[in-house]
Amino acid sequence: MVRTAEHIGAAAVRKEEAALLLEAQAKDPGKFVGVVKHFEHRVDAEQALAQANKAYERRYLQLSQSNDGLFHLDGLLDPEGGACLQTALNSVMKPSKDDDRSWGQRRADALVDVSRRLLNGSKLPDVAGQRPHLVITATTATLAGLPGAPAGELNWSHPIPSETVRRLACDAAVTRITSGKGTHRVGNGGGHSHGDGKASDLEELAAEISHASRTIPAHLRKALAARDHGCVFQGCGRPPEWTDGHHLWYWGDGGPTELENLALVCRRHHIMVHEGGWRLERNNGRFNAIRPERKVAANARSA
Ligand SMILES: [Zn+2]
Ligand SMILES: [Zn+2]
Repeated sequence: MVRTAEHIGAAAVRKEEAALLLEAQAKDPGKFVGVVKHFEHRVDAEQALAQANKAYERRYLQLSQSNDGLFHLDGLLDPEGGACLQTALNSVMKPSKDDDRSWGQRRADALVDVSRRLLNGSKLPDVAGQRPHLVITATTATLAGLPGAPAGELNWSHPIPSETVRRLACDAAVTRITSGKGTHRVGNGGGHSHGDGKASDLEELAAEISHASRTIPAHLRKALAARDHGCVFQGCGRPPEWTDGHHLWYWGDGGPTELENLALVCRRHHIMVHEGGWRLERNNGRFNAIRPERKVAANARSA
């Protein structure tokens, strides 16, 4: 009430004080703020606009990575900006059947899903002449999941585990394989085999995996969407646009990019398969997701 008086003058508040106090007693604090804002706007719309403009100037968003690799978000959004974000997140954070994620985890996943959807589409402006995309750099030993292989690298991020590289490579094209002797382009969009190198070559070569182009060609992705209709995990039902094409026989192990070897999975279920140790099988046209026997160590993944 004191703050309202500061905003619009004590005389105006005094006139409606009794009615406002009644509202304050009847409503919870959150709703009462709305009543006060309406009141302020009725009495002095110009002042209300000035207040909103002042508040708008305080907006900011900070995104920083901590030593354990997790990104920390901190920020303030203006009412319209916050409502936009909240509406977008609410539309994609519906829990699936047997969803054991907390509300906060679902909201975090929703923000990543919305960002991924934008990156996978073509609506973002180019940066330095290129579509913005994730670039994963890894040795082919990392891509093959060989023991003793180094971690992979992701733009803007700390090193990521080999299994995360293998998941990301499931549905992103290897655009370049580089070695000390030069750079060899291996083409975009098709299923590529990298399994023909000798052991010494495996250590020397580094693969660059780019999410700008997907491993699975458009016609195959269409057939996959028509067959699976969305994430194949029971009770999930994420539509095809929100899924990755997972290779049942891992692409990193030489699995072919063919309809029979592919399954649509949403990001959460894709993570469960690769980093979480679940096994996804297809028997007589039906998919079976098999829980890992033992819990995967908590430090087995960073993404
Ligand atoms: Zn996969
Ligand atoms: Zn799913």
